[in-house]
Amino acid sequence: MKSLLPVINAGLPTDLVQPFAARVARDATPLRRRAVEQLQVNLGKLCNQTCTHCHVDAGPTKTRENMDPWTAMRVVELARDCRDLQVVDLTGGAPEMNPAFVDLVKEFRGRGIRVIDRCNLTILRKPGFEWVAPFLAEHQVDVVASLPCYLEDNVDGQRGDGVFRHSINALRQLNELGYGDPNAAKKLDLVFNPTGPSLPPDQHRLEEDYKRELQSRYGIRFNRLLTITNIPIKRYAMYLAKQQRLEQYMQLLEQNFNADAADAVMCRSLLSIAWDGAIYDCDFNQMIELPSVGPTAPVRPTVWNIDSLDSFATRDIATADHCYGCTAGAGSGCGGALI
Ligand code: SF4
Ligand code: SF4
Repeated sequence: MKSLLPVINAGLPTDLVQPFAARVARDATPLRRRAVEQLQVNLGKLCNQTCTHCHVDAGPTKTRENMDPWTAMRVVELARDCRDLQVVDLTGGAPEMNPAFVDLVKEFRGRGIRVIDRCNLTILRKPGFEWVAPFLAEHQVDVVASLPCYLEDNVDGQRGDGVFRHSINALRQLNELGYGDPNAAKKLDLVFNPTGPSLPPDQHRLEEDYKRELQSRYGIRFNRLLTITNIPIKRYAMYLAKQQRLEQYMQLLEQNFNADAADAVMCRSLLSIAWDGAIYDCDFNQMIELPSVGPTAPVRPTVWNIDSLDSFATRDIATADHCYGCTAGAGSGCGGALI
């Protein structure tokens, strides 16, 4: 039997017609970064859930792999001089479980930068975290929350028993705080990712379904639905491999390569900072430890060995075959479909 390790650790399946890099070279604009407009800060792997599709391998026992306050403050320092920075996206794990979360929100919102909390919803209902929802509302933090379906069985199957009920209660709480109002400054977007190894359906049509069903069944409002393709790395790749569906999924992604989506991938304007301060081209590359070609090359860049985030502009982006996940069909990124 073929070893699964290269696939799971580096996204290198063997049965593709063409490696991702060759396909981009043939059909799309070279993958090179423009100015850094968005910073994704991964506060660590601690999470109150253990979802099957999680590419972070997060969970309640991951208490060590979390950003310390010194690294968080170094991120703040570097971000102060980042010329084109518009958005800071706080993710994890459950980012709210890291004590640095509060200071990062206050710092960036204080500078008028849009802050996104990539929230799993259930954390808002967890004892000890009752402060989170009012804090987000007070600081006008945008919430991007996972809800892979509006049907209870599908959500609980992917994210764990009881997750759907807690998520609905959390969404109601956010609505009561003003989230989901189309005229409010703070936004509540939901994330859909397929439960099986398929591409997401049309984002706009699915958003209409979500809005209708969540309103009629639970009285819930939200702003936008973001459809995100599952990237075949780590826990999700392992899950597919166990079902012997990994190669089939990779082939599906490759067959649906879209050059327009490749031109719009998020890594062209985003940097991802890991809990330990290492810098990557995106969250997915971070998870498989595929280093960014930064100003310190060939030394791996971190927040400690660079002087400026702007020095990443115009550099090539590190890619591997998992990148087919971002460029298939309508494309996919942390902000949903790309085209
Ligand atoms: S809530 Fe998010 S970070 Fe936590 S286990 Fe699920 S997918 Fe991973
Ligand atoms: S996986 Fe990361 S590096 Fe690859 S295309 Fe997607 S965002 Fe870019």
